[in-house]
Amino acid sequence: MLEIKDLKTYFDTDRGLVKAVEGVTFNIDPGETVGVVGESGCGKSVTALSVMKLLPKPVGRIAGGKIIFKGEDLTDATEDRMRQIRGNKISMIFQEPMTSLNPVLTVGYQIMEPLMLHQGMSSREAKAKAIEMLQLVGMPDPGRRVDEYPHQLSGGQRQRAMIAMALACRPELLIADEPTTALDVTIQAQILDLMNDLQREFDTAIMLITHDLGVIAEMAQRVVVMYAGLIVEEAPVVPLFYEPLHPYTRGLLSSIPRVDKDLDKLHVIPGFVPSPFEFPKGCRFHNRCDRALSKCSEEMPPLYVFKDGRAVRCFLYESKSTDRGASR
Ligand code: SF4
Ligand code: MG
Repeated sequence: MLEIKDLKTYFDTDRGLVKAVEGVTFNIDPGETVGVVGESGCGKSVTALSVMKLLPKPVGRIAGGKIIFKGEDLTDATEDRMRQIRGNKISMIFQEPMTSLNPVLTVGYQIMEPLMLHQGMSSREAKAKAIEMLQLVGMPDPGRRVDEYPHQLSGGQRQRAMIAMALACRPELLIADEPTTALDVTIQAQILDLMNDLQREFDTAIMLITHDLGVIAEMAQRVVVMYAGLIVEEAPVVPLFYEPLHPYTRGLLSSIPRVDKDLDKLHVIPGFVPSPFEFPKGCRFHNRCDRALSKCSEEMPPLYVFKDGRAVRCFLYESKSTDRGASR
């Protein structure tokens, strides 16, 4: 469904060039949920915006690689073509709903428009569908909200309206960037269920971006872990949780609070995420890694790819690798 090949996304800023994503490669199959995890600034949201071609202009640009959606390279697609794809074949749920809601159109109209345009519904059918979708995402009083404008809704309600909009058109690929972070647990569970239903019914592929490993465990079949603009580990979800390979992934997993453990012993990865203006030489995690070797501060480790579908960017696995997949 989606193949991202060696994607490079750069930002030309006043303070210099930021290589926010530097050679990211992964695929998503129909009906599959791939989780993308990492701390903020690791490049996960930028990867999503690159696929949608919604990078902030003129600073952001795709500097290399391919994004192939159902055989079509989106990096070459015109803005007209992207408009046909966005909100129809690929839709995205953002962290910040105001970026995808149009302030001058009613919430209902924004849900109805793609249904009328791409699915040939009459305005009556589309409105009924819009109300149904708003109900599904837990919007209070959907019959009234449908005629309101985004500014009349609370933040949580706007988030739900945007999710209703993204799911109503039954996209083939759904990109969800921290889709439920701002919502309370009950609504969060409802929305994740809704995404699962959509996937089951229509074989939707989902790219799920989150820092919430609980959501990943529940939703994803495969996980891509990003750090400082690079993929550092990729694995099916169960092995990733049971046997994380990369020291960064281990740190992330052990930083999940557990009720059965003494909170004082809670492990948090020491140190800071490096600034994208000055990524360290060598392994970008070396200043935070408790297992660093001497060459880790000199050489960038390649992504070692294993036969069992796992991959890890760390010198500790050099001898175990069957294939030096340096470009992955
Ligand atoms: Fe740690 Fe070295 Fe592996 Fe990087 S390559 S994660 S510094 S051991
Ligand atoms: Mg983000």
